Amino acid sequence: MSYFSHLECSVPCGAGPYDPNKIHHLCACGAPLLARYDLARARAWSRDTLTDREPTMWRYREMMPLVNAERPVTLGEGFTPLIHATRLGRAVGLTSVHIKDESLNPTNSFKARGLSAAVTRAFHLGAKVLAIPSAGNAANAMAAYAASAGLEARVFMPRDVKAPFIRECQLYGAAVELVDGLITDAGRVAAEKGTPLGWYDVSTLKEPYRIEGKKTMGYELAEQSGWRLPDWIIYPTGGGTGMVGMWKAFDEMERLGWISGPRPRMVTVQAAGCAPIVRAFDAHHEKAEPWVGAHTLADGLRVPRAIGDFLILRAIRESGGTALAVSDEEMVAGMREMGRLEGVSAAPEGGAAVAALRHLVKRGAIRQAEVVVLFNTGGALKYLEVLE
Ligand SMILES: *Cc1c(COP(=O)(O)O)cnc(C)c1O
Repeated sequence: MSYFSHLECSVPCGAGPYDPNKIHHLCACGAPLLARYDLARARAWSRDTLTDREPTMWRYREMMPLVNAERPVTLGEGFTPLIHATRLGRAVGLTSVHIKDESLNPTNSFKARGLSAAVTRAFHLGAKVLAIPSAGNAANAMAAYAASAGLEARVFMPRDVKAPFIRECQLYGAAVELVDGLITDAGRVAAEKGTPLGWYDVSTLKEPYRIEGKKTMGYELAEQSGWRLPDWIIYPTGGGTGMVGMWKAFDEMERLGWISGPRPRMVTVQAAGCAPIVRAFDAHHEKAEPWVGAHTLADGLRVPRAIGDFLILRAIRESGGTALAVSDEEMVAGMREMGRLEGVSAAPEGGAAVAALRHLVKRGAIRQAEVVVLFNTGGALKYLEVLE
């Protein structure tokens, strides 16, 4: 049984609490909502109960957004391997580099986690039609989980999205609409069409549950490392659900009494052609200005404006981390390096994490024996054109 109790404003602005049995998107103040749990009661839940559970993210169901005896909409997402990347580590001069390989999720990216959680709630809240603006991976994941739950999927993607993303949505029976512009434009069109028709919007952080799926990466890192967190987490950041989700997971696990001690330094990696969070971090701003003229071959990082910008910046700063941008050429070199040295199939976003690692080592930020985890957020197969 889950300890899920209510939704709360992420600012927090004082509005709410919001009832988990009703459909909510944003707080009345316009900020994202976060799921909250009865942590006082949850402290009775021992992490030892995990040992004989299923190897999916739903092994943490006590801290997942389920009401009463609801069952998750699952395709086996999560509990991905944490690989000790000894050859990559040696190449950069470190002894403890690890790769969390999210390419092994259903539909080939970590978006599966967020959409499994979001579609689960949408299904139990009675939604019939789900709509999503996406640069590619989120649409594939949404279409797959919608199919599994028997719901209708409407996908809005930028016109220049790579063909495999379109075909895979169609494979799962989703209706695909291509929109001129970027993911923010796709979001606008999705809202214009969907709001009057009552479609359930599963945009990043515009519904409260994708982050709950993404946070399980934080729980897994702890569990797979014997309840000790790494010194550094290097994470390719677009909308920021992964960063914000993991930071939330660390907070929850501390309150559960599962972990203690220093938290990892959180590193946001963005593309040189679209780096709103990096720019805001460098300027000591609490929010990020929209990036004009965004361009990068890493579709997941082509997010000119993130509604959770202040939450991402908060996590980086509270952790003593940093934010940096890498070029498209560096990302592709990083993909090849992860492939050649570790046998891991990386999306350009995973390649960006390798490039960022090299920069941080060069700056002397990371010491030789510190434990580093790189997130390979997706696989290479849908991006083969960038390797030609
Ligand atoms: C969406 C996406 C990202 C960005 O993830 P956020 O958690 O939204 O910041 C990174 N990599 C890949 C492969 C993606 O699809």
